[in-house]
Amino acid sequence: SEEKSLNFIEEIIENDLKSGKYETLVTRFPPEPNGYLHIGHAKAICLNFGLTQKYGGYTNLRFDDTNPVTEKTEYVNSQQEDIKWLGFEWKNELYASDYFGQLHKFAVTLIEKGLAYVDHSTAEEIALQKGTPTESGVDNVYRNRSVEENLDLFNRMKNGEFEDGACTLRAKIDMASPNMLMRDPIIYRIKHTPHHRTGNEWCIYPMYDFAHGQSDSIEGITHSICTLEYVSHRELYDWFIEKLEIFPSKQYEFARLNLTYTVMSKRKLLQLVNEKHVAGWDDPRMPTISGLRRRGYTPESIREFCERIGIAKRENLIELSLLEFCIREDLNKKANRVMAVLDPIKLVITNYPEGKDEILVGENNPEAEDKGGMREIPFSRELWIEREDFMEEPAKKWFRLAPGAMVRLKFAYIVQCDSFEKDANGEIKTIYCTYIPESKSGSDTSGINVKGTIHWVSAAHAKTATVRQYDRLFTVESPDAEEGDFKDYLNPKSMEVIENVYIEPHLAKANLSDGYQFIRKGYFCLDKDSTADHLVFNRVVSLKDSWKG
Ligand code: ATP
Ligand code: MG
Ligand code: MG
Repeated sequence: SEEKSLNFIEEIIENDLKSGKYETLVTRFPPEPNGYLHIGHAKAICLNFGLTQKYGGYTNLRFDDTNPVTEKTEYVNSQQEDIKWLGFEWKNELYASDYFGQLHKFAVTLIEKGLAYVDHSTAEEIALQKGTPTESGVDNVYRNRSVEENLDLFNRMKNGEFEDGACTLRAKIDMASPNMLMRDPIIYRIKHTPHHRTGNEWCIYPMYDFAHGQSDSIEGITHSICTLEYVSHRELYDWFIEKLEIFPSKQYEFARLNLTYTVMSKRKLLQLVNEKHVAGWDDPRMPTISGLRRRGYTPESIREFCERIGIAKRENLIELSLLEFCIREDLNKKANRVMAVLDPIKLVITNYPEGKDEILVGENNPEAEDKGGMREIPFSRELWIEREDFMEEPAKKWFRLAPGAMVRLKFAYIVQCDSFEKDANGEIKTIYCTYIPESKSGSDTSGINVKGTIHWVSAAHAKTATVRQYDRLFTVESPDAEEGDFKDYLNPKSMEVIENVYIEPHLAKANLSDGYQFIRKGYFCLDKDSTADHLVFNRVVSLKDSWKG
């Protein structure tokens, strides 16, 4: 097989393992349980778990749950389900909130070392004191409090003596640092809000920067991989570890995944859900893992997508069509072919006996190694065919049905169109044909050659279904980058619902996760809204490859 060049993180890891810096690689995937995971998270999951699959060691799942306001157990559960579904197993299930006691001790240690102080300034005052990147900040009156006073005040913060916002604990670093994050960052704030796991035990909570690196360190994470926004946080990450004299985890940054025609921040996805622009986090138009799953994406296709886009050091924008390419490739191998008529007109075979039917057999998947086995397809005198497969006045090179023309019915016989009938609105309603009994697929002795083959479903045997066809959720490539609100760019036609679609009867036994190719129409899968007598299918992706890679 083709030798793949290493990405920059693999290079670092290979060097660290070779030099003996670490014996065991330990990575983590650290979601905040404040929403459902999306395709960008899938990228980080594949990266972190993929590295320990390749180099040994293990990956932890750590919920970065330090902000009680936005976090919920529902999200913890969905995030776990999505990671498992993608095909990964974590070594330890951990919660930053389990470290609240230890993190509090770390804060006390900093105070004792004269490296943290309680500050009563308001957020606005702190912002002013910090200055601007080109102009150094100023120390305030709280900065030089004694250790004893700070210990006492921090203890009173913890004991709930102050209101939200009355004071904060800040690291005492450098108000003149060129890195604004090093200008005495807040490390603890007061929030009288119950936490999804610790309840009312705490009313002070650590800031992300004071929790993340220390959590990595507590767990012995060797390579803490995050996205580029955290480059400027690295100095602070290292500072805490150095001053606390704890295990030296190292942070490395890669470019986050950005995808065309969608948004990816959980905050924005939550707005789409709350304002009912979509039917929920798992709406098949959402870029969430649960949405993609419901849409009919497979774990393999998502992993393949993450593999193909690789690991970059600079921001970029990936085409949605690449994701579609990946599922199309996967379903081409896996999906059984079936017949479904989305816009039906009736075809009557006048020389086929009334009341008779026969069972034909069809290959499930010509692309599969075992052809996917065979299935039975009922055939009878009256069929549904696709409206677009008939032309009253055929164009040049029209090989489908037209008055006097012949066509093969897939898996069945050759028919010739003798006449047709319109309804009161002038729309084609019924087509009358004769069939050639000797032309049966697999045993054709008719000697007739036809160029066109069309799909059909026996009217007496067909099941009825609803089909939902999806388009991009937004009309512009980068809704985030446009002027005004990102929701102004929602695509009003992102879902087309087609009722009264006729499908082969055995599709009544379809399973939620099975992808099907509706011959000539696209890839589809059963939606969870289906009931025994009302089937609903999602179009996963069209048949045509529009990706120009
Ligand atoms: P969001 O606002 O989209 O929820 P986040 O970074 O705040 O993003 P977290 O739950 O903190 O969400 O993310 C968990 C992990 O997934 C982090 O390590 C983060 O860097 C990574 N991640 C999040 N979004 C992306 C993305 N678009 N591409 C790659 N990795 C991502
Ligand atoms: Mg985050
Ligand atoms: Mg976030």
